[in-house]
Amino acid sequence: MPAPNDSHIRERLRAAGLRVTAGRVAVYSHLLEATSPLRHGDLVGALEHLHLDQATVYRNLMDLTTAGLVQRTDIGDHSWRFEAVEHAGHGGAHHPHFVCTVCGDVQCLDDIAVSFTDHHGQVHTVGKRPVEVQLRGTCDNCA
Ligand SMILES: [Zn+2]
Ligand SMILES: [Zn+2]
Repeated sequence: MPAPNDSHIRERLRAAGLRVTAGRVAVYSHLLEATSPLRHGDLVGALEHLHLDQATVYRNLMDLTTAGLVQRTDIGDHSWRFEAVEHAGHGGAHHPHFVCTVCGDVQCLDDIAVSFTDHHGQVHTVGKRPVEVQLRGTCDNCA
């Protein structure tokens, strides 16, 4: 997939009913290029050169989440991680995540299907239902 360009990003923001601002374009384009979910602090650091303050980044993340362009995930450490629903090479919303219990690294798992059976005996497949699945283990670097 080619890197998302500016006009693509503007288009998506407008289609989602958001006003196009420099801050929003910067936050959304950074998330589109990211390969794993990012914390608010990660984004503030990455966009520091653009002089976006913490509050601006936070407000834009909330706007993008509300508009459905960005989703947030809590991997269990009580800090939200944000990722573009339509990011490069991405399977779409509500895919499973792998969390390393040693270094805290989070990876998106796009190429596996996860199903589970609820207590009514009904089978659910992740990707079709808005559930969040996290697999925990040790990543390659920490193994
Ligand atoms: Zn690790
Ligand atoms: Zn992901």
